Amino acid sequence: MEDPEKNSLLRRLPSVDALTSSAAGRALGARHGRLPLARAARRAIADARRLLLAGEGDGSVSPDALEAALAAELAPAQRRVLNATGVVLHTNFGRAPLAAAAVERLREAAEGYTNLEYDLESGERGSRQAALEPLLCELTSAEAALAVNNNAGAVLLALTALGQGREAIVSRGELVEIGGGFRVPDVMRQSGVQLVEVGTTNKTRLADYEAAVTERTALLVKVHRSNFAMVGFCEEAAPAEVAELGRRRGLPLLDDLGSGCLADVAPLGLPRERTAADAVRDGASLVTFSGDKLLGGPQAGIVVGRRELVERLRRHPLQRALRIDKLSAAALEATLRLYRDGREREIPAIAMLASRGPELRRRAERLRAALAAREVPCELVETSGQVGGGALPLAELPSWAVALRPGQLEPLAARLRKGGPPVIGRLAEERLLLDVRTVGDGEVELLSERVAEAWHDVPARAPAGGGREAGVQVDGGHA
Ligand SMILES: *Cc1c(COP(=O)(O)O)cnc(C)c1O
Repeated sequence: MEDPEKNSLLRRLPSVDALTSSAAGRALGARHGRLPLARAARRAIADARRLLLAGEGDGSVSPDALEAALAAELAPAQRRVLNATGVVLHTNFGRAPLAAAAVERLREAAEGYTNLEYDLESGERGSRQAALEPLLCELTSAEAALAVNNNAGAVLLALTALGQGREAIVSRGELVEIGGGFRVPDVMRQSGVQLVEVGTTNKTRLADYEAAVTERTALLVKVHRSNFAMVGFCEEAAPAEVAELGRRRGLPLLDDLGSGCLADVAPLGLPRERTAADAVRDGASLVTFSGDKLLGGPQAGIVVGRRELVERLRRHPLQRALRIDKLSAAALEATLRLYRDGREREIPAIAMLASRGPELRRRAERLRAALAAREVPCELVETSGQVGGGALPLAELPSWAVALRPGQLEPLAARLRKGGPPVIGRLAEERLLLDVRTVGDGEVELLSERVAEAWHDVPARAPAGGGREAGVQVDGGHA
């Protein structure tokens, strides 16, 4: 486009003033405020300019376009999404949704003051750990416990407090990257602990640990492989054996469980996973795990183990920098109480993992019927989801989904991401799958509305060459 031509086109764009003082602008401003309206006007003008320069539109901003721009300005950047991926603990989607009891406590703590660090008996300063420690000890049979901001923080704190300036022995088969760039060796270096790698990628024996112990050794470390599994010619020393070696040589064992489940998940139909209580029973001196993976609570890092070592962590200056906040502490206490009272099925992550075929099929059938009623062609299919959050990477969760076969897959997926709330599904074999394991019964109607809206909005046929599988990648398997 020639410059003079372009300039004369751009002169057609309205000014911010013209938009905010139009009839539509004044009405919107009265309802939502002058400042958001001015931001919306600038956004709408920028959109119109882009269209003009692309040779589309006439440079005008309609009242509808202004209202849409205002809605976009007012929508929070962090918002609810409908997770139809079937990945229960999806790190990209905030991991575990909280139980109703935890949400209630969270709200109460957020709205007012709490006795976070105040002892109501004595009227003196108390500890934010006082409410959590007895629950954690009861649930894991550990002597002492400490909650911090997240598990990466728990590992960093434990390594720093026990091993700074000295050596820690860890198996080469356990030096994993957890996801989001969290690499175990990097964290260890950050703590000022020198890493002594033993064994090989696929085989590490107890003798390998034993041979590496010197007077510089401060601790032995075991790390859950989380998002990754080894099959075939492989071997790892059992945690109980490593703990026993530690006892003989006077060295503590730090066992980072990662996901850290509190209750046995086998009754949910999942592969057996070591619980935090198992790790304590196996003789680990300190056990660390996340609050928002299999546990199903808020973001938190939990350390349980021998009292004298937990006390060293508690007194370390890093502990103050990593401490758990009052909102997470409130939600964590409520979640732990559900475990203590045998009510863990009220925890959404546990309930979703426990959902069985017939229940999922009924929900998928409801979703299919609701979509059919909105004239969206789709079919019921059997599929499988994942636990996510780096937990149980080999576990396939048999599930039911509704499959859509749009002319253009990526434009539909993109339109679904823009809805309110956005919908994220799974792309497989030219189809969009909506896996209902991670969709609440109460969300089926809303999901069908959003999907129908997007379906009827996106042209059915691709321009030549379109409709390839692309875009909504779902990689919740790691953490
Ligand atoms: C997830 C994970 C972590 C990090 O936990 P966050 O709660 O995400 O900080 C550390 N170690 C292992 C083995 C993990 O799986």
